[in-house]
Amino acid sequence: MSEVRTRIAPSPTGDPHVGTAYIALFNMAFAKKMGGEFILRIEDTDQTRSTPESEKMILDALRWLGLDWAEGPDVGGPYGPYRQSERGDIYKDYALELVEKGHAFYAFETPEELDQMRAEQKEQGLPQKYDGRALKLTQEEVQAKLEAGVPYVIRMKVPEEGTCVVQDMLRGTIEIDWAQIDQQVLLKADGLPTYHLANVVDDHLMKITHVIRGEEWINSAPKHILLYQYFGWEMPTLCHMPLLRNPDKSKLSKRKNPTSILYYQRMGFLPEAVINYLGRMGWSMPDEREKFALSEMIEHFDIQRVSLGGPVFDVEKLKWLNGVWIREDLSVADFAQKFAEWGLNSDYVNAILPLIIPRIDTFSDVADVAGFFFKGQLDVTAESFAEIKMEQETLRKALQFALWKLEALRAWEKDNIFAEMKSLAQAMEVKPKDFFAPLFVAVAGTTASVSVFDSMSILGPDMTRARLRHAVNVVGGPSKKEAKRWEKEFAEL
Ligand code: GLU
Repeated sequence: MSEVRTRIAPSPTGDPHVGTAYIALFNMAFAKKMGGEFILRIEDTDQTRSTPESEKMILDALRWLGLDWAEGPDVGGPYGPYRQSERGDIYKDYALELVEKGHAFYAFETPEELDQMRAEQKEQGLPQKYDGRALKLTQEEVQAKLEAGVPYVIRMKVPEEGTCVVQDMLRGTIEIDWAQIDQQVLLKADGLPTYHLANVVDDHLMKITHVIRGEEWINSAPKHILLYQYFGWEMPTLCHMPLLRNPDKSKLSKRKNPTSILYYQRMGFLPEAVINYLGRMGWSMPDEREKFALSEMIEHFDIQRVSLGGPVFDVEKLKWLNGVWIREDLSVADFAQKFAEWGLNSDYVNAILPLIIPRIDTFSDVADVAGFFFKGQLDVTAESFAEIKMEQETLRKALQFALWKLEALRAWEKDNIFAEMKSLAQAMEVKPKDFFAPLFVAVAGTTASVSVFDSMSILGPDMTRARLRHAVNVVGGPSKKEAKRWEKEFAEL
């Protein structure tokens, strides 16, 4: 058998997600156990949502966890470039190859026509998918449209009847009716590939032998299987991992659990403990021991030991495990060094000191003024907002809207944060000073703290958002009834 090669293929459209680290870990453990390679590819064909900042955060976060890749956009490798946006016209050429072979076709509908088609299908209670109308065009009609420069996409043909049989390493045989599968767009009107085309082409060209990914991709498998057949390529083995869940069993979401790896870093978790905990998500060591290092996981790895019942990501358990790691693996000297790297490194301290020096007279005042920079979640309750001069409804909205704004903010810099919050205050017709007061409480625990915007910029997006989320929860976020109305109001601001 050829060398095992696995990959993690993140789309750089947001914060580095613990789910990405989880899937990366299992891909890495599998490849290493089999004596193969684990690689990293950036899937950034969605140009409106992908950002270089997000890519950098994902790479940094995975590296912090010790999930090193043998090939990737930063380290290169024999099958590069490893960033899809740099892979030129290859996807278009492959899409055209499928058109030539009769497996794909040009489609010229405008977005409005497609909306209308779906609306009609909905009215008639039919599944909403492309109805194949462009397949009725004659060769001459297609040619004429192409020559006239009418915008087009390329779609793949999909059988109308029968079932697709997906073989999954963990789930065995899964059957999906072809009737459920859309005639997927492969190449968009802007000439860029969709995820499905780029993913299959790259997995093939990068010689990926095993595709280990989250279960949310199962429904994409039939499209991929078909593409491999159309191209005449050997299919990699598929394996769909269970999704991580919140303690209430819903899909892991940032509203209930912090999902950014950088949050766990800022909270002062050890990367070894985070990896250990992720390794316990649906998997166990043969002797069921709870604490193990990445190298031990690799040594004993067997993918068949993954169980499919939704693994629960419980921050309290992770905390407990982190405590075990700290006590069992760090000498006092190690602790001192790691603690200093985390909280007393010169970048962090030099950012904080100019803010606090004007407010202290002795070193012994520092802990009082700067304490919140070294904490995780603050002890903020509904009471903490008692002094805020704002209607309760406005207060709840102010905190929620501020959180939504800051969740969308990408370039995390003081001036941008300030500008966003100021314009939000104006839009909500609240005096900036009054509007900022609850932000102080949420982020620093008191209105008497140093500048809240400096503090947010130093604490970073993950800790700031987590504290705001906590504040929203304690004052009461939108009820189910309010949620839609608030979202609409927010969108109109
Ligand atoms: N780019 C996809 C993602 O963001 C990759 C999915 C896959 O592994 O095929 O998860």
